[in-house]
Amino acid sequence: MEKVIDIQHLSKSYGAHEVLKDINFSVEKGEVVSIIGSSGSGKSTLLRCVNLLERPTGGAIIYNGENILDDKHDLNQYRTKLGMVFQHFNLFNNLNVLGNCTVGQVQVLKRSKLEAESIARKYLSVVGMEQYINAKPKHLSGGQKQRVAIARALSMEPDVMLFDEPTSALDPEMVGEVLKVMKELANTGLTMLIVTHEMEFAREVSDRVVFMDKGVIAEAGSPEQIFSNPNEERTREFLKRTLKQG
Ligand code: ADP
Ligand code: MG
Repeated sequence: MEKVIDIQHLSKSYGAHEVLKDINFSVEKGEVVSIIGSSGSGKSTLLRCVNLLERPTGGAIIYNGENILDDKHDLNQYRTKLGMVFQHFNLFNNLNVLGNCTVGQVQVLKRSKLEAESIARKYLSVVGMEQYINAKPKHLSGGQKQRVAIARALSMEPDVMLFDEPTSALDPEMVGEVLKVMKELANTGLTMLIVTHEMEFAREVSDRVVFMDKGVIAEAGSPEQIFSNPNEERTREFLKRTLKQG
């Protein structure tokens, strides 16, 4: 199997606070990896380090066989290979749906407007938002906004999509439509790294589940193993707590 990204001994500190400690894991092409764990365990920081929104304090991120944390690397080029979907959508409110999905393609990837629009329409149709191309974000529901945010990221045709709790800010009735789109994407063979609190979803779509606790990967394995037969006491406790709430 081909590794898309390989994280080795990654660490991140804010001052004296070590938020990530010796993180090791990789994502293979076509694989869906979910990251679960309590609030504050370092999940968002890990995603933000992977896409270099935060500079890791130590370790390596191997992409295409090279450590992109080496000085010589073009970080902007690397960032275009990672699609990011945030909890709070982060759409451009002054642009309509089509504009949101073309601006990055034109400005960063230097695609022509015509090509960018055709690619954007393709992905808006994948997420079921093609009939809203002229709408401004303020006229969309949370679920619709998140689907546009997914289409925007897909329009850059990244090697891997990173999702940071894409459904946590949504009203409960809108969670399903976003998870459905993500499930469909997983089935098309897209490479995905997903931080989620949706345990049923994680169990269903993931090839592998990573459980984080206090800045370390406490346990990683198949969904079957993590959810039905975890090795670690802290994994069992987390699942007991989370499933009781849900
Ligand atoms: P999670 O996403 O799992 O809830 P985070 O990655 O957001 O966890 O946070 C992990 C820890 O790092 C928390 O203790 C948080 O307070 C701390 N942290 C996150 N971002 C910063 C920052 N910019 N400065 C200082 N501490 C931070
Ligand atoms: Mg978080």
